[in-house]
Amino acid sequence: MAQPIFRFAPSPNGKLHLGHAYSALLNQQMARKSGGKLLLRIEDIDIIRCTRELETQMLDDLKWLGIEWDEPPMRQSENLENYRGALDELAKMELVYPAFMSRGEVNRQVAEAEKAGATWPRDPDGTPHYPPRDRDNAKARNAQLQHSETPKSYRLDMTKALKVTGNGLTWQEQETTIEANPQIWGDVALARGDISTSYHLACVLDDAHQGVTHIVRGKDLYFATAIHRLLQELLGFNEPNYFHHDLILDETGEKLSKSRKDTSLADLRSSGATTQDIKDLISFSDG
Ligand code: GLU
Repeated sequence: MAQPIFRFAPSPNGKLHLGHAYSALLNQQMARKSGGKLLLRIEDIDIIRCTRELETQMLDDLKWLGIEWDEPPMRQSENLENYRGALDELAKMELVYPAFMSRGEVNRQVAEAEKAGATWPRDPDGTPHYPPRDRDNAKARNAQLQHSETPKSYRLDMTKALKVTGNGLTWQEQETTIEANPQIWGDVALARGDISTSYHLACVLDDAHQGVTHIVRGKDLYFATAIHRLLQELLGFNEPNYFHHDLILDETGEKLSKSRKDTSLADLRSSGATTQDIKDLISFSDG
């Protein structure tokens, strides 16, 4: 069997918190137990919110926590050409269209339709599906060539994509086979108008290029896995194994946020916490 490859893929758009510590420690533990490698991928495509200062802090926190990488880190902001290439490939398959409505316009249109009694589908994050207007508008498809207007995003034509792969997509959640239903996301955005990618596209490409075989990440990304499996099929990539672990929650049962001070690793460190204190706080046991 090939050597298992795990990865931890944080975004330096805020300080790492206890939830990141848990995910990084768990990845390392699983990699070591299986004789696998652990890689670091810095997901910094959001050039406004991700900074080099936050990245340096993040790397320092992970080192302090005792995480060691088997290869030099990979940075997504240095890989934009690859994402554009994949977007072009999907566009050549006629699975991508330029979308021109802003979030505000979409919300207005959906509110009007709902006021008139329609039921509008929403994705697992609660965002309304993108209206079919641009997809059905042949002119919009050529708008990019005409340079008349910059699209807000490039979207996957979900119906066409599923015709290519067929229904019946699944993923492996450790030993369990899960039915993937990418259609619950509607025409998902594969790139913002100003950058050549989205989280989904970049994540799938890099997992494939880094040879990742085991994806261990929080349950908040469970449903996104359906999109990732669809893209892997469309682009001819291998299927990794997934494990979506429980999230570390705050005292009110909410997900931790990067803006909270008392759960940030950097702040806990500067108030004197040891790495064992962190492991105790998240009930992580070595071994
Ligand atoms: N960059 C994502 C995050 O920080 C993680 C993506 C992944 O593990 O697939 O939430």
